[in-house]
Amino acid sequence: MTATRTGYRIPMSSAGIHEPDPEALARGVLAGERAQVARAITLVESVRSADAPRARALLELLAPHAGKAHRVGLSGVPGVGKSTLVDALGLQLVEAGHRVAVLAVDPSSTLSGGSILGDKSRMSRLAVADAAFIRPSPSATSLGGVARRTREAMTVVEAAGYDVVLVETVGVGQSEVAVAGMVDTFVVLLLPGAGDELQGIKKGILELADIVAVNKCDGEKVKEARAAVSDHSAALRYLRPRDARWTPRVLAVSGATGAGLDELWEAITAHRATLAADGELEAQRRRQQERWVWALIEEGLLEAFRAHPSVRAELKSTLADVQAGTLQPSHAADRLLGVFGLPR
Ligand code: GDP
Repeated sequence: MTATRTGYRIPMSSAGIHEPDPEALARGVLAGERAQVARAITLVESVRSADAPRARALLELLAPHAGKAHRVGLSGVPGVGKSTLVDALGLQLVEAGHRVAVLAVDPSSTLSGGSILGDKSRMSRLAVADAAFIRPSPSATSLGGVARRTREAMTVVEAAGYDVVLVETVGVGQSEVAVAGMVDTFVVLLLPGAGDELQGIKKGILELADIVAVNKCDGEKVKEARAAVSDHSAALRYLRPRDARWTPRVLAVSGATGAGLDELWEAITAHRATLAADGELEAQRRRQQERWVWALIEEGLLEAFRAHPSVRAELKSTLADVQAGTLQPSHAADRLLGVFGLPR
């Protein structure tokens, strides 16, 4: 063990080589050194409990330097064209002088151990741009775990000076709720072919959208895409806007040809400017932070519950009784919460 200036003690790895020191890592990140940014994210993504104190120390050093980026979420079903669009939009932003980080939330990475979201080979032009940093989705044991690590990676890239953070996610399940809860502006990508699409799209997801972009508006799809824009504009009119200041915009874009990408970015910046004008941006971020604390508490409690020896001993038989119809769900929950130690 070696003491650092902050009194933090650096553990030695089994090979006797020093693990990266949080202070040195933080310096590298703040200097915008790409390799250090990658190492820092690897540390905060680590699921090894031995890494947790260093990850926490690093985040504490970086947090005061984070928060200045425009955080943009992009969601859409696999095949909607997220990678293609992020590649094109990201490159356009880099050319305009921005530094762009791409992060991803892919709960399926938990099962597959890898993720196609944020895959560099699918963003081939952006991946080689000096001012861009692409990170695939972390794998973790739960969506909560994936979301947590992506949030922490966001702190790292913001501290490194990336001023646009694009967070992509798949438009299925709860992952877009998680992403909408960590960004300033949430964009939902849709495919043309409005009729059936409109049925398939969960109202809940559109309610989260600040901007709806109908993608692949090119070639033979132009007419269809434009029809989808007017259908979705009409559909959105029936939804109560999330915020009275902003009416969600619906646009037609093509990641492949670049059509509509200027308008998309204009809408994204207009949304942020609207929020920033009267302090709502900061208020929204504070609300997100507070919800985040609750999400972590819920996750922590659930983990502790599942790991509790008495719960583990009783869980299976109690659930079997419920399945067999001999025990009411509410009694089962009471019993398990009781053995967990909650006064019932
Ligand atoms: P993702 O799964 O959402 O990341 O989608 P991809 O970007 O990988 O694209 C899925 C498929 O759609 C690929 O075959 C792309 O070539 C194609 N594609 C992506 N964007 C466009 C677009 O703007 N127009 C057209 N016509 N095809 C596109």
